[in-house]
Amino acid sequence: YAEPSTKTQGHPRGLYLLFATEMWERFSYYGMRAVLVLFLTKAMMMDKAFASKFYGGYTSLIYLTPLIGGYISDRYWGNRRSILTGGILMALGQFVLFAAGSAYGTPLGQGLLYLGLGGMIIGNGFFKPNISTMVGSLYTPEDRRRDAAYTIFYMGINLGSFIGNTITSLVGDTGRPEDFRWAFLACGIAMVLGTGLFQWGKNKYLHTPEGEQVGNTPVSSPGIKGVYMILPVMLALALGFLWIDTTTFSVIMPLLILSALGIAALVLLDKSLTAGDRQRVYVIFTVAFFVVFFWAAFEQAPASLTFFADEQMNRTIFNYTLPASIFQNLNAFFIVTCAPLMALLWTALGQRGLEPPSPLKMVIGLGLLALGYLVMCFGVDDLQPGIKVSMFYLVGLYFLHSIGELCLSPIGLSLVNKLAPLKFSSLLMAVWFLANAAANYLAGFMSSLYPEAGKPAPNLFGYEITDLYSFFMVFVVSAALASLILFLVNRKLVK
Ligand code: GLN
Repeated sequence: YAEPSTKTQGHPRGLYLLFATEMWERFSYYGMRAVLVLFLTKAMMMDKAFASKFYGGYTSLIYLTPLIGGYISDRYWGNRRSILTGGILMALGQFVLFAAGSAYGTPLGQGLLYLGLGGMIIGNGFFKPNISTMVGSLYTPEDRRRDAAYTIFYMGINLGSFIGNTITSLVGDTGRPEDFRWAFLACGIAMVLGTGLFQWGKNKYLHTPEGEQVGNTPVSSPGIKGVYMILPVMLALALGFLWIDTTTFSVIMPLLILSALGIAALVLLDKSLTAGDRQRVYVIFTVAFFVVFFWAAFEQAPASLTFFADEQMNRTIFNYTLPASIFQNLNAFFIVTCAPLMALLWTALGQRGLEPPSPLKMVIGLGLLALGYLVMCFGVDDLQPGIKVSMFYLVGLYFLHSIGELCLSPIGLSLVNKLAPLKFSSLLMAVWFLANAAANYLAGFMSSLYPEAGKPAPNLFGYEITDLYSFFMVFVVSAALASLILFLVNRKLVK
């Protein structure tokens, strides 16, 4: 138990410090991302296909660097120093984007854009894995409040996303290209607030129930020298991003696949694992594979779905035209409002012995994803040129996707936690991040197939994407197939 003076409604105060820190950080991440593709297409004059790939390349690297940041933190820096470093880099990155937004349309603006995003990629690598693990370290391993703590933390994530997205859409996505910079400025300020708050409260609130300080020291320390070998790798990654163009985007995917295969070999060839351990590792890889299909379709939100909202959807309500980028916000809104209901539902089902096992919940999650896109297909079926679609199709999609996310995302992390052999727990968590990285890359690639009038129809393995109907149908089919196959193997996985 935490001592009474540091408790808030049954949870240590440290949880609320991490909640608030992560809230500001997600404000910055999702707020910036919400207007990114519009900034790229409307101010930086990229075409939609390139902007989509650019977005996918950026977010995919955002999920790749936590592998390195987590490693440095585990072995050399500890959580606190990593979070501070990451926070400062991300704030600087946003301010550089603010400068890029002020110099949009010039070569200087272009350079600053890459520099700012590069800073965010490295910063996030330090920040994100560390803030998440600190939540758990506030509790003893047996403490049953830990799951609830992660649920509260997930609320912080989405609350931050909601506030951030609302503000950046309103100040940045105004129809005037020079306004995007205000969105980046707001995100920079949010990052300063989050990091400052963390610095202010960390010594006071971040300790174990026994009062021992958390996150000051690395978990394992084989000497300080190795860090000098890893930092250049981080730098190379960020610089690689600086020079990314249409051709070099293709480097990312092989890199991810090779990393995943490397980790699989490393783990499975380890002689000390039992046959049971190995089977659990197979389950982690299988589940991670299916999760790729989920996020690849889900993360269309700031890309193709925002193009759609921008050009093909009636956004006027009571004589006020809503910014296109604000609709992604429905995801965070539905998560915050529906998460408690879903928790109640699982508990009620659990009491009757009917709560689905984790793989089956993922089947449902993927199914809801397919359903969301099916709703869109109805909306855009036989769409005449120049006619705009009602916004309720997109609202329906975000509702179904958010319920799907609640079935799949929160349990994924704990599943990996439970199944990974202790020796490889961080490495297998890395597999989870890799799945996200691959998914985000694919999300960008898929969004680049968004059909445009007057341009040749994009082609996916011989399938012609002639209109929005055939575009959204790709996601219906891929998510439904993934759901079906996972359903067929789910008993085996549960076993
Ligand atoms: N929305 C969650 C977050 O930002 C999960 C995202 C993900 O795992 N792809 O942390």
